[in-house]
Amino acid sequence: MITSALSTLEGAVSDFNHRDLDPSDDDPKRMRAVIDALELEFASMVRRTQQRGEHLVCGNITAASWIARTCGMSVTSAADRLCVGEQLESLTKVATALASGEVGYQSVTALCHLREQLGEKGRLFDEEEMLGFAREYSVSELRKICNYARHVADPDGFFNDAEECFRRRRLHISQMSDGLYAVDGVLDPVAGAAFKTAVDVLAKPKGPEDERTPKQRRADAVGELALHAMEQGTLPRRHSVKPHINLTMTLEGLKGELGVPPADLELSLPISTRTAERIACDCTMSRVLMADSMVIDVGRATRTVSAPTMRALRVRDKGCRFPGCDRQVNWSSPHHIIYWSRGGPGKLPNLVLLCYFHHRLVHEGGWQVIKSGREFRFLPPDRVVMRRARGPGMRWAA
Ligand SMILES: [Zn+2]
Ligand SMILES: [Zn+2]
Repeated sequence: MITSALSTLEGAVSDFNHRDLDPSDDDPKRMRAVIDALELEFASMVRRTQQRGEHLVCGNITAASWIARTCGMSVTSAADRLCVGEQLESLTKVATALASGEVGYQSVTALCHLREQLGEKGRLFDEEEMLGFAREYSVSELRKICNYARHVADPDGFFNDAEECFRRRRLHISQMSDGLYAVDGVLDPVAGAAFKTAVDVLAKPKGPEDERTPKQRRADAVGELALHAMEQGTLPRRHSVKPHINLTMTLEGLKGELGVPPADLELSLPISTRTAERIACDCTMSRVLMADSMVIDVGRATRTVSAPTMRALRVRDKGCRFPGCDRQVNWSSPHHIIYWSRGGPGKLPNLVLLCYFHHRLVHEGGWQVIKSGREFRFLPPDRVVMRRARGPGMRWAA
């Protein structure tokens, strides 16, 4: 019986898999070199099947999709092997270096893709020099070198590829049933770098009382960026009105009276009274008088802090007054020490500038602001005394 080369290999692998484990045999580098050498064989093999047109017999359009289906790979991985197989036909030095374990398969992939991308300008590919880079640099550094080489050799092609990539940008923003927003997207390199830089700066931890995870800090940074842009009043107007968010609630609801419906943000989902109180610290109020669901009167819109008081407050506080906070005046908003909803006046002695994070820490986080003379003290919520609430039909826990 004639044994094929592939059967011999299968036998060897099977023997290897059934060996008695010996820790002194463990040598990941050698193991990887063997796998990479087999990757070379695989790439050459699929290339030969492509040339013989075996994929056409099966009615598939491309060789990559046929290989993907036959070998249980993704189409991208299959296309990758085909590219390597084709390029290595003429890059014999690279093929030898891969077979001998001198360079890894991933590095060879980077070189082969570069050569393929260069197309007619493939003669500019200096095999000896690029192989030298592959020996010297890590895979990720080699990929950068290949990108750079591509740009030098073929600026137009590079531009076209970059434009192709640019078309993939997208951003989805959708509200979920619990009121949270899901955000998912891909940004182009310039917008992405700008976005990351801005978010990273705003997402730095704010001191020992900041218990947020890095993910939460980044999410807050995005909110802070958006609110800042709106509050600066420099965004383009929409229907000749400054962009803003709407909050609708009853006066009783704002005062936190029991049994009163909570506030609605953007006329959709309810928000908590504490959050509504925070928003009321700095907003434009319009009184709308309703009777039997009919609007019978709309009062004049007024700010909870008037423009002259706001100017004086900005001069006095110059930024968030929470100790150690770095947010400047443009990144801070007024807080009513005695809440506006509880009758606190919008006058300088009752106001303090706080940033987005520290304003939230006071309202939702239960911190207390105490004014003593010209200074402000911030007291953490008393964690010892637990408030207990009892709803209808609930008994006190024993
Ligand atoms: Zn406030
Ligand atoms: Zn602050």
